[in-house]
Amino acid sequence: MGIYVQRSCPKCKTILEGLTRDYRAIGPPFVECKVCGTVVKLSHIEEWDMKDVVNKFGYILIHIWTNLLFSIFGCVLVGLFLEFVLGIEIDSGESTEKFGTIILGAWLITFIIVSLIRTLGLIKRIRQSRRRTQDSEYIEKLNRLCCLDKLTYDLLKHRRTPSDNR
Ligand SMILES: [Zn+2]
Repeated sequence: MGIYVQRSCPKCKTILEGLTRDYRAIGPPFVECKVCGTVVKLSHIEEWDMKDVVNKFGYILIHIWTNLLFSIFGCVLVGLFLEFVLGIEIDSGESTEKFGTIILGAWLITFIIVSLIRTLGLIKRIRQSRRRTQDSEYIEKLNRLCCLDKLTYDLLKHRRTPSDNR
């Protein structure tokens, strides 16, 4: 899953770190070269609140879809392991109905576990992203790098931390 990129600094050709992330990951949309300090803009990474409502919804849909694929894939792997490595016959003459229930149950449990782990990870990444975009200096930096359109800039600038208004 995901596209892996490895880009080098346009100035000094040093390989930029922290780029091996999923396509459309949540994070700072730029990376700083450790050697010369050049800021390189990334098009495949953005902060959560840089996405509009449609993109947020789409992101969550893809997240759920990925959970679904992972859980199916996980179940198939476990099934193959049981059957061919451990030699346990899964379909041991049970009725189709009972067999179906077992498979469905196993998949459901896997889906819940996979969803729970991945969703907690997503919530953590969104929280970290929100924390970054609550910093007005960070917003200005994003704006200078032309990462924000005017609407997003205004939104982020005026939202920030609730404590600022008190
Ligand atoms: Zn550099």
